[in-house]
Amino acid sequence: MDCIFCKIANGEFNTEFVYETENIVVFKDINPVAPTHLLVVPKKHYSNLSEVDDKNLLAELMETVQNVTKKLNIESFRTVINTGKEAGQEVFHLHIHIISGRKLEGLG
Ligand code: 5GP
Ligand code: ZN
Repeated sequence: MDCIFCKIANGEFNTEFVYETENIVVFKDINPVAPTHLLVVPKKHYSNLSEVDDKNLLAELMETVQNVTKKLNIESFRTVINTGKEAGQEVFHLHIHIISGRKLEGLG
């Protein structure tokens, strides 16, 4: 499958991982919308949140958000998961955005 996040998670582009577990990588967004903009990405391919059938992975993704923000001393942040084109999803491999470092306004 030709999936950019599968390739990144596989190390094919030598992307720097700011955090990594057995099942998850975290790296910087290439087009940051704030001073800190990270992507939390499962190594296994799921097109979006609705596709995930693994409760342990769902828990691990959220734990990873906790762990990486703690590690980097990020106290105030927004998490975003876009599911579907209309919601703004552009990369169809599940990812959680962590956005921080500036005052964020309302959603939408
Ligand atoms: P989405 O709109 O699907 O929720 O978010 C996709 C995000 O992936 C966008 O913020 C975009 O900037 C980022 N992105 C797309 N391609 C790449 C890439 O090759 N490397 C990195 N680090 N981020 C990417
Ligand atoms: Zn993928």
